[in-house]
Amino acid sequence: MGMNLVDTIQQLRRERRAVILAHTYQPAEVQDIADFVGDSYGLSKQASLVDADRIIFCGVLFMAETAAVLNPGRRVVMPDATAGCPMADMITADQLRAFKAAHPGAPVVCYVNSTAEVKAESTICCTSSNAVEIVNSLGDVPEILFVPDKFLGRFVERKLNRKLVLWDGFCPTHAILRPEMVQKARREHPNAQVMVHPECSPEVQDQADHVISTGQMLALVKRSECREFIVGTEEGILHALRRAAPQTVFHHLTPFLRCPNMKKTTLAKVAHALETDETRITVPPAVADGARRAILAMLAHGGG
Ligand code: SF4
Repeated sequence: MGMNLVDTIQQLRRERRAVILAHTYQPAEVQDIADFVGDSYGLSKQASLVDADRIIFCGVLFMAETAAVLNPGRRVVMPDATAGCPMADMITADQLRAFKAAHPGAPVVCYVNSTAEVKAESTICCTSSNAVEIVNSLGDVPEILFVPDKFLGRFVERKLNRKLVLWDGFCPTHAILRPEMVQKARREHPNAQVMVHPECSPEVQDQADHVISTGQMLALVKRSECREFIVGTEEGILHALRRAAPQTVFHHLTPFLRCPNMKKTTLAKVAHALETDETRITVPPAVADGARRAILAMLAHGGG
């Protein structure tokens, strides 16, 4: 069955002039049929460079929105548009407007894991790779608001040794990690280095050798002398890491580190999306303009 579906997808992809993008948290079989695998921002940038009529975005809703914002002329289609991100949904545009009203004049740094509407209300976006540099680029202002991820915010606070006004959002998937899990994994694999994502709690970050984004993880394992890693982020990354560094051994910190929304994409849904253009993701022009402005502000600081 797998073989047939893959053939169908290959054929439809050509006929429909589509590019298939998959986040590194997607199921292995979806990563394997994608034209590009990467983090949300990298994928959207890739999409803008490719000659295609449609983008099949295998990830969660805020990522497809970003692809739509950065590729206004292209049709962006999600194989399962019910795949949302609970962290992104922890702040609405109304809540952000109230937060800003309570802190007049303070710039808002918005992690890309957010809705387009929230980005449109923000001063500048950041990714998990460039959050420290982006906050630092705002200089010596009295207050900076940081949304929605308090753990990424805490990571930035510690790196820069300055306080931010944090929104109380977090990723429920990464939040299940506990420091004891890292300690146990270290006992089991004493030669391995530990890398975790900055969406993990500060207590977990304290136990790691590297607190880095998924893109930085992929770069690290390609250049590192170390051949064994314990990985503290969503399980889909293990497939991407093993492709990037086939000689290296990777241990997942816990099998429970699994984002249910990322796992909604199946090959059958990808084939259906190619065939029918369902479900198309659009962002109203005014919101798209605002979100694009915040994303371009990030790029102007060399981020992304
Ligand atoms: S892993 Fe966390 S931040 Fe990423 S899509 Fe899933 S819930 Fe959202």
